[in-house]
Amino acid sequence: MSRRFFPFRFSPAGLRGLEPSATLVINERVNEMWREGQWVYHLGFGESRFPVHPKIAQALRDNAYQHQYLPSLGARELREKIATFYEERFNIPAMPEHIIVGPGSKALIYALLLALDGELMLPTPSWVSYQPQAHLVGKRVNWIPASAEDGWELRLSAIEQAVDEARNAWGNPGIVLLNSPNNPTGRMLSMHFLEDFAQYAREQGLVVLSDEIYGLVEHGRVKHRSVARYYPEGTVVLGGLSKHLSLGGWRLGVAIFPPNRAGAEVLRAVRTIASETWSATTAPVQFAALMAYGMDPDVWEYIQLCTHLHAIRTQYLWKQLAEIGIRVPQPDGAFYLFPDFARWREPLARMGIRTDTQLAMFLLDKFQLATLPGSVFGAPPDALSLRLSSSYLDMETMDQAQAIVDKAVEGVADDILLREFHPNMNAAIEQFRRFVAMLETDKVPDPSPVPVLAL
Ligand code: PMP
Ligand code: GLU
Repeated sequence: MSRRFFPFRFSPAGLRGLEPSATLVINERVNEMWREGQWVYHLGFGESRFPVHPKIAQALRDNAYQHQYLPSLGARELREKIATFYEERFNIPAMPEHIIVGPGSKALIYALLLALDGELMLPTPSWVSYQPQAHLVGKRVNWIPASAEDGWELRLSAIEQAVDEARNAWGNPGIVLLNSPNNPTGRMLSMHFLEDFAQYAREQGLVVLSDEIYGLVEHGRVKHRSVARYYPEGTVVLGGLSKHLSLGGWRLGVAIFPPNRAGAEVLRAVRTIASETWSATTAPVQFAALMAYGMDPDVWEYIQLCTHLHAIRTQYLWKQLAEIGIRVPQPDGAFYLFPDFARWREPLARMGIRTDTQLAMFLLDKFQLATLPGSVFGAPPDALSLRLSSSYLDMETMDQAQAIVDKAVEGVADDILLREFHPNMNAAIEQFRRFVAMLETDKVPDPSPVPVLAL
């Protein structure tokens, strides 16, 4: 195409070098492959797949007639419910006047990065969208190092060092992003860490963006605590309905600002951005969210059931992979695992696989395993890490997801549920076993039988 007749010119804003988000791209690719009749085990996308709770679905139906624009901050009744919910469930100070509801927490994080001054400090590894969002708003990102040998543990000493290095380079490292339970590792921050970190953040006057979207998806090993309990004056907490209630597609997120003058000022900036971009969050969804945040006992029981199922499914996958000999930190929450294959660096190199992207492509082509390379989460490509999500397996269709819930409600024991009602999870584990056997023996195994598509 001749450039002369190309009417579009791109702005110098941060789009340069960016591609569509890897999580959404792999999900669209897998769904396309399924539609074409090609089987693939979907470990690439972190989407909680449990059915919408009937009371919440009914609340949405009942509010379909609500078609007015709501306030940019969100409906007052909803913000009141959210404040009570956060105080009771997470023990953090929350006032309705200091809360904004947005179309997903992703949009709210973007608005915050746009509003706030200062470079962004990101733990390695971090969820895929933080860095591109910072890029889009022209914000520099400084990575806080961590290593596979250390289970990707976030250490305060590493934060201190990264902040010092940024300052020594005439930078302004003003914002630290914490995400616990973590995507992609599933790890959670301990109370000790949070106490020490809060003291440091206070001394340094840092702003903390605390992404707690998986706060209710705990596996029972570590109790989720918000950093806002220890550093309320400098923390913005982010959450929403996407994970513990499987409502990602409904697009409702929340941000809770510090209960002080500074919190009010930042909220004012985010509200202005909201009012000039998305205006307000979808009205019927906000009214349905009254039921989601309303502490209804049935809804609460359902959240706990779904959390339990996420926990047993993710821990099972972890244990099986660890038994195969794959290094993978044990998760404490959410539905992710972050293994690495550095142990097999040499056999992989003999096959021409030197980066995690090559590894992910190979697994997709030869073993029907859809994963994401750790480098999209900021891990070094030669660490050969992958992010796996347990959330899709055996919940590929709504009927399958419902069947798992039904079995759990019937009282089927966890181990039977995992062994007998998770054929795709077990087959995916088998694929990893065959892959590792191949690396150990340098022999490409015969193709394995693949499940018949039931979509
Ligand atoms: N943070 C993390 C760590 C996530 O995994 C997700 C999931 N997409 C989000 C934020 C955004 O969630 P949502 O926009 O659906 O609230
Ligand atoms: N949080 C999900 C993931 O990490 C997907 C949704 C998204 O990235 O917006 O896979």
